[in-house]
Amino acid sequence: MARISSDDIERVRAASDLVAIASQSLVLKPSGRKLKACCPFHNEKTPSFQIDPQLGLWHCFGCGEGGDVFDFVCRMENVDFPDAVRLLADKAGIELEEDRSGGPQAPKGHKERLKDVCDAACDFYHRELMRSPDPGAAAARSYLASRGFGSAVCKRWKLGYAPGRGKLVAHLKKQGFTQAEIVDANLAYTYESKQGGKSMGPLRDRFYERVMFPIRDRAGRTVAFGGRVIGKGEPKYLNSSETLIFHKSSNLFAIDRARNSITNNARAVVVEGYTDAIAMHEAGIDYVVATLGTALTQQHVRALRSLRPREIIYLFDGDNAGQKAADRAVEFIDQSVTQEAGSAFIDFKVVILPDNQDPMEFVSSKGRDAMLQALDGAVPLIRFAIDRRLDSWDLNSPEQRSLALQAAVELLATIKTSIIAEDYCNYIADRMSVRGRSCDVSTVKAALRKAKPQTAGAQAAGSGADQQPRGMMPASDSQIARYQRELLALALRYPLVQDELRADLSGIDWEAGMPAAVAAQLFPSDGGSGLGFEGGTGVRDVAGMVAALESRVPGSSRYLSSAQMDPGDDQAAALQAAWEMCFALRIQALEETIRQENLKLRDWNSLPQEEYDTIFQHVTDLQKELRDMRLRADRKRIERKG
Ligand SMILES: [Zn+2]
Repeated sequence: MARISSDDIERVRAASDLVAIASQSLVLKPSGRKLKACCPFHNEKTPSFQIDPQLGLWHCFGCGEGGDVFDFVCRMENVDFPDAVRLLADKAGIELEEDRSGGPQAPKGHKERLKDVCDAACDFYHRELMRSPDPGAAAARSYLASRGFGSAVCKRWKLGYAPGRGKLVAHLKKQGFTQAEIVDANLAYTYESKQGGKSMGPLRDRFYERVMFPIRDRAGRTVAFGGRVIGKGEPKYLNSSETLIFHKSSNLFAIDRARNSITNNARAVVVEGYTDAIAMHEAGIDYVVATLGTALTQQHVRALRSLRPREIIYLFDGDNAGQKAADRAVEFIDQSVTQEAGSAFIDFKVVILPDNQDPMEFVSSKGRDAMLQALDGAVPLIRFAIDRRLDSWDLNSPEQRSLALQAAVELLATIKTSIIAEDYCNYIADRMSVRGRSCDVSTVKAALRKAKPQTAGAQAAGSGADQQPRGMMPASDSQIARYQRELLALALRYPLVQDELRADLSGIDWEAGMPAAVAAQLFPSDGGSGLGFEGGTGVRDVAGMVAALESRVPGSSRYLSSAQMDPGDDQAAALQAAWEMCFALRIQALEETIRQENLKLRDWNSLPQEEYDTIFQHVTDLQKELRDMRLRADRKRIERKG
């Protein structure tokens, strides 16, 4: 790969307007000198993502991500820095003078290499499918043919066959890929790698005797695979695990082939199986993508949004899936579904196919025109969800009527003040006027005013946004306690741990009671060595230490005796373990503080400006501290590996 000169990078930066780039995939709202949006990199309902147009910088107060226009594109498109520069240069019509001749070649980024190895695997699987005399490959060919996928279809989609038995690994090694690249791309694994760190054992192909569907990113690079068993067997579908380049909550199958058509037709159709997507494309409906073993997520929607569809149609087979979609609909009802969103407006729609047919069965039995007709008849997601909710109550019973009304208006809570919410109030009033019982639209509007947005997932009645989310992390509470105990035991036993980590250990928020009491002895605030320990480098006389400690903090010996880690004489191992736990605790504590501060910021409209600014500044500082901490932790890990 060639190197991009810093002059070129600056030219591209100057030509790339962060606001314009971001507004292609986000709904930006002015707020003072800044622009706000719901963050594309974590799930949220209240905007904590901000752009400062003057500085050309962005920052999210929810997840701590931030940076310039290049960082934004890196995260959004999941590419390395050079690719982000190329993408933006392309958009701006700037020709990069990449130094292709002499000069030191910049090494390819790791992500880039992972895509290379996936592309190579895709070629290999495809050749196996098309040419191998192996009976497994023959079975794969006839399976695909039986589903209407002849050799032309296999070629167009580069479908493949994974023979297993180490054949892929042997092939990739011959091509010069390293063990780490093959493992990191999830094309193979070693047993050893599961036991921590090293992956030196023999590599085993991850996929064997399966029909392979390559999953590509928008640029057409292979990033993962879906493997289907031939005939019977479990699991029926096996996808690549999450890797650096593959995230099943944001990657979509066929996005590379559908992207232009989605933009040209201003329409995207989402199905739930690869074969459904292929069948639709082959029938000439080519703005179709498939999710990969998950339901549609906000991240998927963001990926689609940048292709500028006016409508996203979710195509379901059967009623169960439809019900699930209705339940999850609330996740997708945000500002972007309102006309006020302007160019970022997206109409979410739903189609449920009749007779429990899946899209592939439907399109192959009824044909393209019938499918197009079904798509044209798609129902708006909001209406669909409102209907489902109203239908689950008896609208003739007075008590149930009020519950039904509440359930219906809750769907509109995040878009209360929009024109579309107004329209749907009329719709709900109409729907609720049954058998002589009338429902006035003003009643619906009053209910809507009181309605609170639901958060996806936790939708229990009464879980209002203003409730203090206390005790949110019970699972990790016990982990915090365990880490603290282990850390104290290590610090007591190994002078190296105590010396090296003193500053970081003092920064830990020790839990009240035994942990805090022991910590006060080990790391006294006067900076002394505590307990009269003198440095030394070996392993201490632990029994003596414990006894001394016990006399000052009764009960401490029993407390420490249940610590489980035992690195023996290996001081370095003890230090490593202590590092990991120490960082984990401090990072977790920072995250929690940031979360608490952000809760205060949520009501930014009602906060006095000065107070808002103070908290805002505090959060920014904390997030910087958190980033530094993560960096240090990463660096430590790298040092250790090296
Ligand atoms: Zn965020």
